[in-house]
Amino acid sequence: MAHVLILGGTTEARALASALTGAAALRVTSSLAGRVAEPRLPAGEVRIGGFGGPDGLADWLRAERVDALVDATHPFAAAMSHNAALAAAATGVPLLALRRPGWTPVAGDRWHPVASLASAAALLPSLGRRVFLTTGRQGIGAFARLDGLHFLARSVEPPEPPMPAATEVLLDRGPFTLDGERELLRAHRIDVLVTKDSGGAATAPKLTAARELGLPVVIVERPAVPAGVPVAPDVPAAVGRLERLLGLGITTVGG
Ligand code: NAP
Repeated sequence: MAHVLILGGTTEARALASALTGAAALRVTSSLAGRVAEPRLPAGEVRIGGFGGPDGLADWLRAERVDALVDATHPFAAAMSHNAALAAAATGVPLLALRRPGWTPVAGDRWHPVASLASAAALLPSLGRRVFLTTGRQGIGAFARLDGLHFLARSVEPPEPPMPAATEVLLDRGPFTLDGERELLRAHRIDVLVTKDSGGAATAPKLTAARELGLPVVIVERPAVPAGVPVAPDVPAAVGRLERLLGLGITTVGG
């Protein structure tokens, strides 16, 4: 039976697991990093925790006889993507990246693209005083020295210190609504938003709300997918590629 390992932690990874689970002659395992206390579990088999670097992942691929590896991690989980590319090269297991497209600006957006969280921090004081920070619980330390600014930091799990002196933490998990985001920006008198270019619909309403209110948005650009790794932009494209790779008819399975 063919075995697919999905490196997960995203909505798309769960959707892919659902689409593949139940397909004839297919074993599906999803891997989660184990960072979230109560993760939304995907369909099929689930393993949780790091592999121990690229060598550990390569060992796992061999031991569990994996036939195809799908890197469906978050676009900013660059270390895991790098490890996946190394392990795939070492074992000869075909690797596919499932990456939702990034966001694109529309008329009225006041976006400031930056290459890193550090660059976002350097730019912030020139753009506003009350910051809605949605870059996740890791990396808030990049903003820790911005004492003159007030931060509303939203993340699924509590952010990891150090963090700015004036930080209000909001624990929440998408999807978010436009009405909710608009109200949040108004209630907290936000004058600048910081986000990663995560893409996807679940967290996009904050961008629409910022546009409506004329607020600047600092947007951290994504790291590149490792060279040579084919990219599927959505679940149907990933299923199609896996079907061809594994020689299976799996497109009729519901997701
Ligand atoms: P990362 O920096 O790229 O990875 C750090 C280490 O965490 C990896 O070397 C690996 O440990 C372990 N790891 C990461 N993803 C894993 C997975 N799916 N299964 C098993 N081990 C995994 O990752 P991250 O940015 O901390 O993200 C961690 C998880 O959260 C990922 O699953 C990602 O999809 C999800 N996520 C990340 C973000 C974000 O903004 N970065 C946002 C939403 C969700 P070993 O080297 O020991 O194997």
